[in-house]
Amino acid sequence: MNPALRIWHPFTNSALDLPPLLVERAEGIYLCTKDGRRILDAISSWWVNLHGHANPRIAAAIAEQARKLEHVILAGFTHDAAEELAERLRKWVAPELTHLFFSDDGSTAVEVALKMAVQHFSNQQRAEKREIVALEHGYHGDTAGAMSVSDDSPFTDPFRAMRYPVHRVHSAYCYRCPVGLKRETCQIECVQQLESLLAEGGEKIAAVIVEPLLQGAGGMIVHPSEFLQKVRALCTKHDVLLIADEVLTGFGRTGKMFACDIAGVTPDLMCLSKGITGGFLPMGVTLCTDGVEAAFRSDDRRHTFYHGHSYTGNALACAAANASLQIFDDEPVFDHIATIARIHSERLPQLREFPSVGDTRQIGTIGALELRADDAGYLSAIRPKLYQFFLERGVLLRPLGNVVYVLPPYVISPDELHHVYDVIGEAIQTLF
Ligand code: PLP
Repeated sequence: MNPALRIWHPFTNSALDLPPLLVERAEGIYLCTKDGRRILDAISSWWVNLHGHANPRIAAAIAEQARKLEHVILAGFTHDAAEELAERLRKWVAPELTHLFFSDDGSTAVEVALKMAVQHFSNQQRAEKREIVALEHGYHGDTAGAMSVSDDSPFTDPFRAMRYPVHRVHSAYCYRCPVGLKRETCQIECVQQLESLLAEGGEKIAAVIVEPLLQGAGGMIVHPSEFLQKVRALCTKHDVLLIADEVLTGFGRTGKMFACDIAGVTPDLMCLSKGITGGFLPMGVTLCTDGVEAAFRSDDRRHTFYHGHSYTGNALACAAANASLQIFDDEPVFDHIATIARIHSERLPQLREFPSVGDTRQIGTIGALELRADDAGYLSAIRPKLYQFFLERGVLLRPLGNVVYVLPPYVISPDELHHVYDVIGEAIQTLF
């Protein structure tokens, strides 16, 4: 008999980790396992879920779309659900962003942005302007290009040889300030490294890519708005495109629809995914300005953007995204977001009192605390203990090494969010 075909789970080491939990169904913020457990999903299932699991409005929209048109090639064709999504996004994204390119997930939305930036210049006979700048602690996905712009980490170590070189500059990680200053008195000097780089080599640089205001996988690092504003000004000054990777921050996570809105910054390219479909189906979107797209409008066919994934603009994913955006229109989503933000700002300062807590950070619906650890980083030994502790108490939290964060679906109630914080407090008291 052939051996069983076993699922190889992401981020799972079969020699070290427990077997996966079998989820039979989910409802609101709860995952219901086959053996009868109810687990509170406090990380929105890898940051994708907005309006609760199995949201009936989104489920119905997908079912209705499936009966009409499940998918059609997007090269040379379009469909109502994609056109509707473009119209709906128009309401939310900066007016300067005039073109939308579909792909499959966050990583491909990033790949598309990087390739667009490079070809934008090569189409203008400026092929030397092709280098990319990215931030320390950045994370942009797991495909080869996205992994190249992500900072070095245990995720990327084995692939050093296949990552293309990028310029790496400081991020505004205030708790571990890269230039040894204090936020209360600094003038965002950490951006000077980017300033010098662009001043010296701007003519070779196509784009700077950032996670605006919040570096997620790098440790839920919250940046001051001024950092993003300065990066924007430097890019404009040196004719370098700014790519805002809003894959995590988009769709209300940071308190406004997009993190760039908080800083009053408009990027040249913007990457969206994760929450775009409310967490139901994979989809990537890269938006760009008319100026970026103009370089592809040409009577020379070689100037075409030859990038396209089979499922690009999938009609079911578009229908889910349309339903999710309709929920933003009909329901008090931003009131829920404000409530979550308020509870984070009440509870985090209390946790900050524990000597083992080095820093607490918050932006919108995301609250995080950095635990003091000699082995700080993704592979910190405390991480599996914390994960297990939370799960045993029925809460799904996946610390990023020594950083514990809460990133719930917007439908979490105040009592449920307080419960999550109670469990975190208990973990700190028990494990430290
Ligand atoms: N960009 C950011 C900022 C992310 O946080 C992620 C995923 O966590 C990605 C890109 C990659 O998205 P995906 O996992 O959908 O490929």
